[in-house]
Amino acid sequence: MVAEFQSISDTRLAEARRVVLKIGSALFVDRENGALNRVWLEALCEDVAAMHAAGQEIVIVSSGAIALGAAQLGIDVARARLHESQAAAAAGQIQLAHAYQEILGRHGINAAQVLLTLDDSESRRRYLNATNTLFTLLKCGAVPVVNENDTVATQEIRYGDNDRLGARVAQMVSADCLVLLSDVDGLYTSDPRVNDDAEHISEVTELTRAHWDMAGGPGTNHGSGGMRTKLDAARIAMGAGCRILIAPGHVLHPIEKVKAGARVTWFLPGSTPHAARKQWIAGTLQPKGSVVVDDGALRALAKGKSLLPAGVTAVQGEFDRGDAVVVVDASGNELARGLIGYAAAEARAIAGKQSGDIADILDYRGRDEMIHRDDLVLAHTETGQ
Ligand code: GLU
Repeated sequence: MVAEFQSISDTRLAEARRVVLKIGSALFVDRENGALNRVWLEALCEDVAAMHAAGQEIVIVSSGAIALGAAQLGIDVARARLHESQAAAAAGQIQLAHAYQEILGRHGINAAQVLLTLDDSESRRRYLNATNTLFTLLKCGAVPVVNENDTVATQEIRYGDNDRLGARVAQMVSADCLVLLSDVDGLYTSDPRVNDDAEHISEVTELTRAHWDMAGGPGTNHGSGGMRTKLDAARIAMGAGCRILIAPGHVLHPIEKVKAGARVTWFLPGSTPHAARKQWIAGTLQPKGSVVVDDGALRALAKGKSLLPAGVTAVQGEFDRGDAVVVVDASGNELARGLIGYAAAEARAIAGKQSGDIADILDYRGRDEMIHRDDLVLAHTETGQ
């Protein structure tokens, strides 16, 4: 579908600080010969470089490994069995990663490959590891290029589509915007290919049943793997306070076109990533234990500081690193909730100690904070928007 232009430029994408950009196989790979769509990718990477230069942090979630590798190995994607798709992904992922490394490298940007499986976003421990790696890469100014780890992901443990993977990644890194580059320019009231009076929807502030109906029921062409998975992605990302943009991707410089006012659909949640995360920590997670803090720590917390081991006088319960715990004063009054940086046994070992001594006590260098202020929500104050 050819992009149509609205009359005004769109500044919303430029406002985002951290953007996850999802690129589908149909854009990345030439359907005719299964080769990399190099001209398109070079133009896209120019857009990415411009965003990067403007100070935006970008994570690319790119499909295309299976399609690229299948062409290379002579596997028919349409008929491939699981192990054949996995073999194709193994060959294709190298090409994919190399293309990003080379093309982003020309702009002085380091590309970094991150392969994820469903477990990495569902199991707490792996989620934390993957998230920390992504944050570290962004801090170093690199552009992580994420894909599903297709060579090991079997049917039961797959995301299966990169729309949802993109949404999970957006949630992991608290992105403010998830861009789904697509072969359509957004959501319509019905299938525009068969229905002349289908109307384009430019903004959705709340997802309802009606939107899924618009995307087509299961089994319809319009819905299969297309708009429905995008709406699933939108639901995940909106829940994390992240805006979602469905924009036409086939054009050269698709990001520039969005900024110039191309017709797109925006999904705009009422919350921000920061508020959604605080809400999740305070309201959704079941606390697994508690830490008792002294008066000094109590005053530091009230000023918005992190909780350091030195201020902890006791640790109660059994929990893992990353679990939610309650922070209480000496009389047991709840002061805050947060995600703890250490497992219970480690937390007990370093309670009351200086952060500088952690490495000696635990034999590894963990984080300085018992609970980092980004992972901490004070009782009664921060759970709102
Ligand atoms: N991970 C798959 C690949 O790289 C693509 C999944 C999707 O297209 O959504 O080929």
